[in-house]
Amino acid sequence: MEKSLFKPFLSIIILMSLSIVALAFTVGVSLDPKPGVVMSLPKEVGKWGGDEIRSCHNPEMCAKEYRDANFYVSELEIPDICPNCGSKLFNCSRAEKEQLPEDTEFVRAAYTNDAGDRLYTSIVLSGTARDSIHRPQRCLKGQGNTLDDEYTLEVPLEGRDPLGVRIIKTSRTFHTPTGPKPYYGYYAYWFVGQERETPYHIGRMFWLAWDRVVRSTANRWAYIAVSGERKADSDDYEETVIDFVQHVYPFILTETMKQKVYGQ
Ligand SMILES: [Zn+2]
Repeated sequence: MEKSLFKPFLSIIILMSLSIVALAFTVGVSLDPKPGVVMSLPKEVGKWGGDEIRSCHNPEMCAKEYRDANFYVSELEIPDICPNCGSKLFNCSRAEKEQLPEDTEFVRAAYTNDAGDRLYTSIVLSGTARDSIHRPQRCLKGQGNTLDDEYTLEVPLEGRDPLGVRIIKTSRTFHTPTGPKPYYGYYAYWFVGQERETPYHIGRMFWLAWDRVVRSTANRWAYIAVSGERKADSDDYEETVIDFVQHVYPFILTETMKQKVYGQ
């Protein structure tokens, strides 16, 4: 186990014990619904141009067997209406819509640059009803990916400490009419609470418990992901992640969170 993970792990056991004590003397936990991120993605991020994505969930026509039909918002004549079947479009997949609580919020976009690189970014904001953020590893495996490696990448940011972003290297094989085709991907993510951020799922669980027990508050956590294709034997994707995160980061934080992280 990594050293940086060990401390929250130990602390979480202590906190769980504390929670049991706290529950015995039930103190009301007040929910603060104000998130640390804004739920929108900019059209321009540095040299990247973005286009939001919408999905049709119509199970009889466009989304048979949970294969979503995705559309770029710029290409839609009527926003939020499927051009193929006329159903309402959503900013999440059909599986997410069915599995996550009703008040979970989503925003997704694809970005391209002049070099022809493409990446996908999404923000999932947990609702107020119950925590709806799952371990990304589970979802990636569920989608048929093999997880090849996992580590934390430090993204240098102007005016503050580097942001820790968790990276998962994935691989899978697509079966195409011309035969099997290998695909190598990267998946970068981090979590943002009302006043906190962490690249670790266990770190997020720790702060959830800490805030409930010590501060008697609960807030909504956001899960930010950036993903794309990588070459099998190259770390070039790290430059892509760093460049994109450096540019998108200031756009997606609320003023309160900005003041906190930039220490203004
Ligand atoms: Zn449709």
